[in-house]
Amino acid sequence: MYDFVVVGVGPSGARFSRRAAEKGYDVLAVEQGTIGTPLACSGHVSTDIWQYTGCEAREDLFQNEVYGARFHVGGPHSKSYPFYKREVASNVIDRVGLDRHLAALAREAGAEIREEHTVTDVREHRDRVEVVASGPDGVVEFEAKMLAGCDGPRSRVRDELGLPQPGELLHGVLAFSDEEDHQDFVDVHLTAPTFFAWRIPRGEAGVEYGLAAPPGVQVTKHFEELIDGYEIDVSHRCSGAIPVGPPDRVTSRRAFLIGDAASQTKPFTGGGILYGMTCADHAAREIDPDRPTTLAAYERAWRDDLAREMELGHWLRRAYSLPEPVQHVGLGALSGEIGVHMDRPTSLFSTDHFKALLSRL
Ligand SMILES: Cc1cc2nc3c(=O)[nH]c(=O)nc-3n(C[C@H](O)[C@H](O)[C@H](O)COP(=O)(O)OP(=O)(O)OC[C@H]3O[C@@H](n4cnc5c(N)ncnc54)[C@H](O)[C@@H]3O)c2cc1C
Repeated sequence: MYDFVVVGVGPSGARFSRRAAEKGYDVLAVEQGTIGTPLACSGHVSTDIWQYTGCEAREDLFQNEVYGARFHVGGPHSKSYPFYKREVASNVIDRVGLDRHLAALAREAGAEIREEHTVTDVREHRDRVEVVASGPDGVVEFEAKMLAGCDGPRSRVRDELGLPQPGELLHGVLAFSDEEDHQDFVDVHLTAPTFFAWRIPRGEAGVEYGLAAPPGVQVTKHFEELIDGYEIDVSHRCSGAIPVGPPDRVTSRRAFLIGDAASQTKPFTGGGILYGMTCADHAAREIDPDRPTTLAAYERAWRDDLAREMELGHWLRRAYSLPEPVQHVGLGALSGEIGVHMDRPTSLFSTDHFKALLSRL
C-alpha cells in the first residue's frame, strides 16, 4: 500500500509528490495523458516561481520578463492606463516545460510517476483508499493510506468524493501569433463580461492573445473581436476552465484536494500555478498519512495563508464590472508606479506600495 496516491501531475500534483517523497513517504502519482499536455495556460507568473524550480530551470523555461500591465477599458486602440513596478514583476514561462521540470524533480525525490493512467473510480474506506485507473495495459487498482486529488478544474476525485464544486467555472481561450515581442508590459482589456482579455508578449515564442469569461458569455465572439482589433492572425487555439473559489471544504476522511481541483486560484486573474504549489507545500507539511485527523491542519493552513488574499481578489474583480466612465476615472487616478505583489492583493496595504505611491508625488 502506498502512503499517498496523487491523481494528476500538473504543478500542484508534481509539487506535492516531490515534497511528500522528500519526507520519506511512498508516493505514486498518476497522470491521464502526457505530462504538460494539452496546453491551456499562459504561464504568466510572479518571479516567485523560481523558488519552486531547480536552479538551472530558468534558462530553459524563461520566455520574457514583465514590469507591469496596461489596462484598457476598451479594445487595442482605446486609451491605456499603465500600472508598473520598478523591478521585474512577473515572468512569462514555457508552461509545458514547467510541468515536465516539476515532474522530473518529483521523480528525483523518489516519487513513482505513471503517465497514460486515467483515474475512473475512487473508494474511500475507514483505513485506506482504493483508486481505479485505466492505463495502456487495462484497468489497474492501487491502494493508499491517503489520496491527493490534484486533477485540475474538472476534478474526478472531487466528484467521486462529493466534495464541493467551484463557486464558478470560467471559460478561458487563448491563441498565438508568431510576432517576436520582448516588450515588458502585458495588455489587459476589460471588454469580457466580469473578466478580461489579454495580450502577452512571449519574446521569441511570439505573442499570446486570450480571454476568459463566465459560462453563458459568447467567449469566441469576444475573442474574435479582440484579435480583429489587433489585426493579427493567430494559430494554435486552445481552451480550458478556470475554477474560482474558495470552496467550503477540500478534505474528506482520507482524501484531500490541491490546486485547481480545490479552486485555489486568484479570483481577479484566474492564475493558479503559484497558489496550487503553495497549497501543495501546506499539504505536505501538515498531512501525516497515518493520522487522518491531520487533514484538518491542512484545511486550516492553506486558508490561513490564502483566504484573505482570495477575498480581496474578489473585491478587485468587482471593479471589472463597474460602469465604463467610473473605470476611466478609477484607472486614471490609480495608474502609475505600484508596489503590489501580483499574488498577494493584501500587499495593497504594504510599505512597498505606500512608498511607490509617495514616489509619484
Ligand atoms: C486560459 C488559461 C490561462 C491561464 N493562465 C494562467 C497564468 O498565466 N498563470 C497562472 O498562474 N495560471 C494560469 N491559469 C491557471 C492554471 O493553468 C492552473 O491554475 C494550474 O494549471 C493549476 O494546476 P493544477 O496542477 O492544480 O491543475 P492542472 O494543471 O489542471 O493539472 C491537473 C492534471 O491532472 C490530470 N488529470 C485530470 N483528470 C485526471 C484523471 N481522472 N486521472 C489522471 N489524471 C488526471 C490532467 O491531465 C492534468 O495534467 C490559466 C488557466 C487557463 C484556462
